[in-house]
Amino acid sequence: MLLSLSATEVSFLMLAVIQAVASLVWALAAWAVPDARRAAAHWAAWSGLSATTWVVLSMQLQLQLQSPPLLGVFCGVLGVIMLQRGIRIYIGKPPRWQMPLALLLLVVVTDRLTGPSTYRQLQPMVNFGVLAWLYFGTAVDLRAHGRDELRLRWPVLLALPVLLGGAAYLSRALRAALSPESVLAEMTTNSSLNVGAALSFLVLVLCLHATLLALVVARLVTGLRRLARRDGLTGLLNRRAIEEALDAQMQRSQRSDQVFTLMMLDLDHFKVINDRHGHAMGDHALKHVAALLHGELRNVDLLGRYGGEEFLFLLPGLHLAQALPVAERLREGIAARPLVLAGVTVPLSVSIGVAESAGTQADPRSVLARADAALYRAKAEGRNRVLADDAPRTVRP
Ligand code: GH3
Ligand code: MG
Ligand code: MG
Repeated sequence: MLLSLSATEVSFLMLAVIQAVASLVWALAAWAVPDARRAAAHWAAWSGLSATTWVVLSMQLQLQLQSPPLLGVFCGVLGVIMLQRGIRIYIGKPPRWQMPLALLLLVVVTDRLTGPSTYRQLQPMVNFGVLAWLYFGTAVDLRAHGRDELRLRWPVLLALPVLLGGAAYLSRALRAALSPESVLAEMTTNSSLNVGAALSFLVLVLCLHATLLALVVARLVTGLRRLARRDGLTGLLNRRAIEEALDAQMQRSQRSDQVFTLMMLDLDHFKVINDRHGHAMGDHALKHVAALLHGELRNVDLLGRYGGEEFLFLLPGLHLAQALPVAERLREGIAARPLVLAGVTVPLSVSIGVAESAGTQADPRSVLARADAALYRAKAEGRNRVLADDAPRTVRP
């Protein structure tokens, strides 16, 4: 049976099998990944409809029909509409109906209402033109998503497979407009054009599935990265995230000469709170202090939980002299607002070490070490106080 098939039929059926398997995979994804349910269901529909198209087109060759049956064309266009809708749903844009439906109608009307000779002139041009239009629309959506949401350096790369697909269909539409007879003849026979087109389409389809997968993976990675940067108890940046922010701030400061100040805060006698009231109360105290500190953030400041009961406050643009009153306000605020929970009042206080970035070009981490040293002295001098870094610094000439 297989031996009686032409090269074109085999390549069409190969595409159908690949798209049928992909349809199954996307249907499984729709079932297993609730976040992507609607979009994956659309992509399953696209793959399934596309598989149907390729089966119909290969049957057309078997039966030696003079033109592609409407079912094949209809499924092909509806499939791409589903692909586009799925992508728009996934990237949070309202899915379109009117324009795609109008294009689908145009394809059907061109097929049904024209006589055989006119049909031969119009049909391939309209079909390929409509497909090109749909692909270009999808490319615009993908490029915008890559630029605005994923912040890719070359967002056009995300849209490249769809763009190439659009270009391929556009060139066929133009050829069909200029020479409809020859294009139709090539389409309905076992031709090198058909085998070449099927193989190019195979590459395109694989790239399209890779693009859809990239969208899903990018969202998963973004979610994981957000989780990986937050401290589970307080919701503040975790140690790694605040250290990265500190390194980035260092580099910015060295490039643009912008000063910043770093505060290291440590709760006083926290172990006593745990010992006296239990670990759960200790956790509430940490959340309470984190919320108080968070309330003092300007939108350029960064705040993280550096260790058990230690916090780092990064204040871009502030000199030591400007940051010290801020630190004093934080210390007073915490001392004035004890944790009150279940009828128990737990007094709290913090010690704060403050250091400025100026003169630290040689060693990016030295400002952290100097804030820590100042904090250590604040503890040694009796706690519940703010101390500035007093290490000698090399100031820029
Ligand atoms: P100091 O004034 O010198 O800072 O004394 P301290 O008791 O605050 O410091 P120490 O380093 O001796 O103890 C810190 C305690 O913080 C010990 C540890 O069990 C507790 N701790 C660390 N992380 C957590 C946490 O997530 N929840 C709770 N409840 N306690 C924590
Ligand atoms: Mg402590
Ligand atoms: Mg500590």
